[in-house]
Amino acid sequence: MNELVIEAVGVSKVYWDGTRTLQVLKDVSLTVKRGESVAVLGPSGSGKTTLLNMLSGLDRPAEGIVRLAGQDIHSLSEAAKARFRNEHIGFVFQFYHLLPEFTALENVMLPALIRGSREAEAKAKALLERVGLTARLTHYPSELSGGEQQRVALARALVNDPAIVFCDEPTGNLDPATGFEMAALIENLSTREKKTVLIVTHDRGLAARATRIWNITQGNWEK
Ligand code: ADP
Ligand code: MG
Repeated sequence: MNELVIEAVGVSKVYWDGTRTLQVLKDVSLTVKRGESVAVLGPSGSGKTTLLNMLSGLDRPAEGIVRLAGQDIHSLSEAAKARFRNEHIGFVFQFYHLLPEFTALENVMLPALIRGSREAEAKAKALLERVGLTARLTHYPSELSGGEQQRVALARALVNDPAIVFCDEPTGNLDPATGFEMAALIENLSTREKKTVLIVTHDRGLAARATRIWNITQGNWEK
């Protein structure tokens, strides 16, 4: 695998709110190496979620290039991009995005089933154990606390053993103790498993565990 796992060059994003345009990202360039974890710290509204959406292929930048493990993600067809994401990217959403009609176990199994894994259930159970949720396998998201849903979301992001993990405010909705546990789990992804991790957050305790911190302020993306 390419040493530069995440590479963004001149990424810009503009939103149209119906009456005017809003430039959220302007000429953002960054690189993250294999096994590195980078925390992007910035206030609410500074464009952190937008950045992750651009870097992970969830949304398309107005300008710029994003390469993940050397692959220009935005040049892929929708089907190829979905496959690439399923195989190589784990994404922990700010508001979990668990499927409400599936249990915790089923939510975690789903990306592995899509990939065609025969060990989806065993992998999902092992990950749910790792995040301390063995007693919640058959619970539905509505029966779980915010912290539990966040941990299910982390387990789901890891089920296909992705090389790259994006985390959008993974401790944002957690109490301090649960946030601390989550931060430790995320830290292990890069230190022990050599995954490449990009976290956006306003949690300084979480950011302090990263190998590198990138501070941003509104409209001012500086390294
Ligand atoms: P953060 O994650 O740092 O809080 P976001 O990336 O969610 O910031 O949003 C950055 C700015 O872009 C905010 O001002 C937000 O209102 C605006 N924005 C985000 N998504 C959209 C959208 N789909 N359409 C229009 N404006 C948006
Ligand atoms: Mg956000």
